[in-house]
Amino acid sequence: MDKCIFCQIIAGEIPSSKIYEDDKVLAFLDISQTTKGHTLVIPKKHVRNMLDMSEQVATDLFKRLPKLARAVKTATGAKGLNILNNNEEIAGQSVFHAHVHIIPRYSNQDEIGITFTEHEPDFEALGQLAQAIANEVTK
Ligand code: 5GP
Ligand code: ZN
Repeated sequence: MDKCIFCQIIAGEIPSSKIYEDDKVLAFLDISQTTKGHTLVIPKKHVRNMLDMSEQVATDLFKRLPKLARAVKTATGAKGLNILNNNEEIAGQSVFHAHVHIIPRYSNQDEIGITFTEHEPDFEALGQLAQAIANEVTK
């Protein structure tokens, strides 16, 4: 099977601007630089996204994020960061090797393309939905 683009970056077959690497994780600058310092953190093991991730891969990936986030913020002089992860095409995933975006924020005019719409809460519906999800978690 052909390697995905991020597996090719891990293998050194495609160049990347690396900021961190160990046996489990690679972090490198996103080619799109949505804001200056936009970084991707990926597991070296090929998994499609969070929906396909074992607890071990998640542990290896996420435990490195605080250190990497602090480094990106300090080196860029950003005021804050968004940390994002897209799962499946409908949610904006375009590369199907799991990755976490670290997106430095400089102003509220940064064009990162995600906003949250607020709705009036329907507490009965919230309770039912929470119960349905809770049932799935414990399955
Ligand atoms: P997604 O849309 O799947 O959450 O994010 C994929 C990201 O990978 C995009 O932000 C895109 O700019 C980045 N990307 C795609 N191909 C390459 C590449 O060859 N090198 C680097 N450094 N980033 C890439
Ligand atoms: Zn891959």
